[in-house]
Amino acid sequence: MRVIVTGTGDAFSTERFGSSALIQTPEGFTAIDCPASPLGMYRRASEVSGIAIDPGCIHDLIMTHLHADHAGGLETMAFYRRYKAPDSPKPRLWAAPGVMARMWERLAPSMDGRGLGETPASSLEDFFEPGELALDGDTRVGPLTVRVRWTIHAVPTVGLLISDGESTLGWSSDTEFHVEHADWLAEADLIVHECGESVKHATWEQLSTLPEDLQRRTRLLHVPDDVDLPDGSMKRLHDGEVLEVQSRISESI
Ligand SMILES: [Zn+2]
Repeated sequence: MRVIVTGTGDAFSTERFGSSALIQTPEGFTAIDCPASPLGMYRRASEVSGIAIDPGCIHDLIMTHLHADHAGGLETMAFYRRYKAPDSPKPRLWAAPGVMARMWERLAPSMDGRGLGETPASSLEDFFEPGELALDGDTRVGPLTVRVRWTIHAVPTVGLLISDGESTLGWSSDTEFHVEHADWLAEADLIVHECGESVKHATWEQLSTLPEDLQRRTRLLHVPDDVDLPDGSMKRLHDGEVLEVQSRISESI
């Protein structure tokens, strides 16, 4: 599985885009979160990675939660598809039930087109094909299979286990450090964990208590601009970095 890390910043970063990624698929791309300024973010990720990213080819967007540094780009993506790439199919938009329940509440004031009147001209379904991520099993998201688990964060947020049938990516999403969450992610071949170093987030010191085998398979993002992490097995990711996720089983054969 090829993963393009499109952003590694936290909510206050002035240097990097919000923590997010694209998974390359045979049909295009599946997005993990969609932070503010997504068009600039995808352009920059294309330049750094050397992989051409057409925002019109993102067929699925998986939203972990509704904070702006993760979901602030949905309006731009919706209007881009409507006005700049009208021939591209409507993207599917995925979130856990408690997240999806408030999706349109977040987007409607700037997207429902009611003008000065009372009657909305548009709904979420006019821009996206919404789908809920099952809380108790697998959800088929295009060519991928997704499992979710609630994290410990200020708003409803899910971590992700995403498989293409050959390898599995673990994505902690925003969360306080929680050993049970790390244990759940340990099934993945490669884990991208947040390291926000602040309240409602995990710290490097906490993450460095995980087993060495797990740390070696862990990459970090959501690190504040002014934080330097100690050297260790858990490498810090950079905007535009490409991860080739390989199955641990086939690697050891
Ligand atoms: Zn958050």
